[in-house]
Amino acid sequence: MARRRQLYEGKAKILFEGPEPGTIVQYFKDDATAGNGAKSGVITGKGVLNNRISEHLMLSLQEIGIPTHFIRRINMREQLVKEVEIIPLEVVVRNIAAGSIAKRFGIEEGKRLPRSIVEFYYKNDALNDPLVSEDHIIAFGWACPHDLEEMTGLAMRVNDFLCGLFAGIGIQLVDFKLEFGRAWEGEDMRIVLADEISPDNCRLWDTQTNEKLDKDRFRRDMGSVKEAYQEVARRLGILLEEGNSTEHKPTDTPV
Ligand code: C5P
Repeated sequence: MARRRQLYEGKAKILFEGPEPGTIVQYFKDDATAGNGAKSGVITGKGVLNNRISEHLMLSLQEIGIPTHFIRRINMREQLVKEVEIIPLEVVVRNIAAGSIAKRFGIEEGKRLPRSIVEFYYKNDALNDPLVSEDHIIAFGWACPHDLEEMTGLAMRVNDFLCGLFAGIGIQLVDFKLEFGRAWEGEDMRIVLADEISPDNCRLWDTQTNEKLDKDRFRRDMGSVKEAYQEVARRLGILLEEGNSTEHKPTDTPV
């Protein structure tokens, strides 16, 4: 098998050159980090689960007209996506106070916010991904006002849809992080949803018990991380058949 050219290795994924120009292969690792790498570990099977969960959510969003980079899942750990120019912002949408907003403003975790809030963080590990204002974004040229408006609108639509989807399976969507990219077709540019949507970048709480079903279990040393991700996949109706391991299989179809 010809070696594919690795383009980038992140904390939870590796990007390889895709089989056709303008495509990329996203490989989902089992590695988990928190606190910008301060804590790291391996959650066996996480990559397989996130690949499936993200595929399911991206396809559902495409069905309601949200443009995404997703093309198709290739195998247990890989998906084919459109090559995009990643906008260096993390777009966070919050419905319930948790994590950094609870800390920053002294709000009790679990308190519903007066309305959904969109925040932008500058993607820069060396600076610890600082919270930025729209003026910072425009002044420093990370995105223009039109791109910002587009990302905010898409983030709110994603939030409305995912809140409903998760509510239907007994899960509260507390908050989540999105990334967007610019997809070029000749001279035309379109902002599309990129990266992944999975329990790695969402806070998901059981509606009845408030049990955490997301990466906070890893961040806060609560244990049963994989089981929580499996529960999300099971409720979404996409858990692999019993006996089908989530381990990496060497027989995974190569691209
Ligand atoms: O830590 P904070 O409360 O700001 O996180 C808000 C949301 O964004 C959480 O769902 C978290 O999982 C996600 N997030 C992320 N990647 C980051 C920072 C936050 O996926 N670098």
